[in-house]
Amino acid sequence: MFYYECTCYCCKKLFKMMEGSRKYQLYKQNMNGKFSCEACDHKIYLEARKNLISKL
Ligand SMILES: [Zn+2]
Repeated sequence: MFYYECTCYCCKKLFKMMEGSRKYQLYKQNMNGKFSCEACDHKIYLEARKNLISKL
């Protein structure tokens, strides 16, 4: 299986994007973009949700 290794812009750790995943597709389209690992994705999601709730 192919994968890309990318540095998470959030925690600066290397993580893998497996072929066929959404992130892999995004990375192929924009290799200079910012990408975050699974753990940070989850953190960002929770933060975004918290901010959204506080705005309601
Ligand atoms: Zn991360």
